[in-house]
Formats: sequence, structure tokens, C-alpha cells
Amino acid sequence: MFGKKPQAMKAILSVKEKKYLSPHFIRIVLEGDIDLFSDAKIGDNNKIIIPKNNEDTFILPSLEKNNTTEKPIIRTYTTRDIDFENKTLTIDFVAHGENSPASRWAIHAEKGHKLGVLMKVKSKPLYKDANWYLLVGDHTALPVISVMLEKLPKETKGKAIIEVHGPEDALELKKPVGFEIEWIFNKNPGEEQKLIDAFSSTSFPDCSKYIFVACEYTSAKQIREYSRTMKETYLSSFQILSYWKHGQSEESSAEERRKERVSN
Ligand SMILES: Cc1cc2nc3c(=O)[nH]c(=O)nc-3n(C[C@H](O)[C@H](O)[C@H](O)COP(=O)(O)OP(=O)(O)OC[C@H]3O[C@@H](n4cnc5c(N)ncnc54)[C@H](O)[C@@H]3O)c2cc1C
Repeated sequence: MFGKKPQAMKAILSVKEKKYLSPHFIRIVLEGDIDLFSDAKIGDNNKIIIPKNNEDTFILPSLEKNNTTEKPIIRTYTTRDIDFENKTLTIDFVAHGENSPASRWAIHAEKGHKLGVLMKVKSKPLYKDANWYLLVGDHTALPVISVMLEKLPKETKGKAIIEVHGPEDALELKKPVGFEIEWIFNKNPGEEQKLIDAFSSTSFPDCSKYIFVACEYTSAKQIREYSRTMKETYLSSFQILSYWKHGQSEESSAEERRKERVSN
């Protein structure tokens, strides 16, 4: 029998709380009809639908492919937390500038502002079982890596390599005791690639491994190319994802990033 296709659920939520975790990270706690997302888990991806002007009259646009009205602005984010008791959903936004709709929305968000959230819940686990973990990501993957570190059993061994803007953005992370964290600082993410050096100088223990990489397109591509020179056994549990592309908005880079994933 075929399983049922996951259904996309969407809701308009409103800002309950906003705080800067660091100069480039904004935590937004949204409230509303969270019960619609009852199958969602912390760490799942979601899509946000950004109102054009934070207007009170914001209604969820039709997402049908043949819809002829103006295209909605949709971006992909990580569900940093979902709390069904308090009916809140939390997203951590990288504040990377005013010229990008999602980043601008987060910078200017105030209590009561509206945001559309769309979720298609998949049953894929957040990580696979292994004896050693390597989690690599830039600032956009900090939320998902933070969730993984919180969820991994406390005796887990491994290393996380995380690129952020500067030392002031290196957050205090809850993690298994035996997990090492290496912070990489890059003021020009996407223009300068620093993750590849950290990745290629990593020593991999001789045991089963889970390797997760999520970052800007060029860094992801460099790491994928380097990984092809590594021993086959290292690649048994290897997931590498491009989360954004320097110089391109999410809609313009999505197709290219999708092709890259397919060709991996
Ligand atoms: C599965 C998945 C989960 C993600 N989770 C998160 C998350 O939890 N938090 C988060 O902040 N991001 C996350 N991202 C990345 C986020 O979707 C992109 O950064 C997105 O492009 C931001 O939209 P925007 O409207 O701000 O910029 P866009 O309009 O898409 O891009 C405009 C310009 O800004 C540049 N740009 C985009 N993102 C960045 C960036 N991070 N740093 C510097 N320049 C950038 C683009 O290259 C482009 O030139 C995730 C992406 C994926 C695929």
C-alpha cells in the first residue's frame, strides 16, 4: 500500500515575542492556531509567507501553481521550537540586511505583526544513528544544528563546525558533553568560503559516522567535491544541503539548488 502524501497546513500567526540572541540572530516567537501543525516536530522545515507591508488585513495567498495573482514571498526556515501547550512556534532568523524580505521582516517585526506559516510534515528523522557525528553549517543552519545537539543522546561523541559573523554571534549551545564545537568567523558569508578548510582538516574516527552539512551554495559545493576524494566509508551517512545562494533570492536560486541536490 502507498503511504498518504503529507498534507501542507498553513496558518497566519502573530508575533508574541522578539529578542536578539546576538547581533545577527533574531528569535521570533509566534502565536496562533498552532494545533493545525500537530504532526510537526522541533527541527522540521517550514515555509514562511511574508506580508508585503505587515498590514492587519494580511490573508494567506493561494499557493496553487495556476494562481494568476501576484506571487507571494515565501522563504524556508527551521522550526526552532513548537510548544502546543502555549500555542507558540519559534523561528531564529539571521539578520543579514534590509534588502531581503525575510531578514527585513524579522528586523522590523513587532508584537502583533502577522506571518504566514506553511508546514508539510515529513516523517524523515532529523539525524541517523551513528557512533560519531559531524555537524557543519553556516549561520542559517545554526537553528537546525542546535536542535540536533539538544536531541542527541547525552553520551554522543562528535564535532560541530559552525560559521557565524563574529565571536559575538557564537551562542551558548546545549550539547552532549563529549561534543566539540568549533566556531568559524566570516564577515562575508557567501563571498568568502571558510567551511571547506575546517571540513577538510577534520580527523574522522574509524567508526560509523553521520555527517550533516548545510550552508551557502558554494561552500556546500566545495565540501561535496572534497567529499568525493574521501574514503567511501565516510560517505555512508552523509547529507549535504545548500540553504541559500550568495547574490540570489530564495526563489531565483531554488531551481539551481534543487538540481544540485538531485545530482549529488
Ligand atoms: C531547509 C532550510 C532551512 C533554513 N532555516 C533557516 C533558519 O532557521 N534561519 C535562517 O536565518 N535561515 C534559514 N534558512 C536560509 C534562508 O531560507 C535563506 O537565507 C533565505 O534566502 C532568506 O530569505 P531573505 O528574504 O532574507 O533573502 P532572499 O530574498 O532569499 O535573498 C536576498 C539576498 O540576500 C542574500 N542572502 C540570503 N540569505 C542570506 C544569509 N543568511 N546571509 C547573507 N546573505 C543572505 C541572498 O544571497 C540574496 O543576495 C534555511 C534554508 C533552508 C533551505
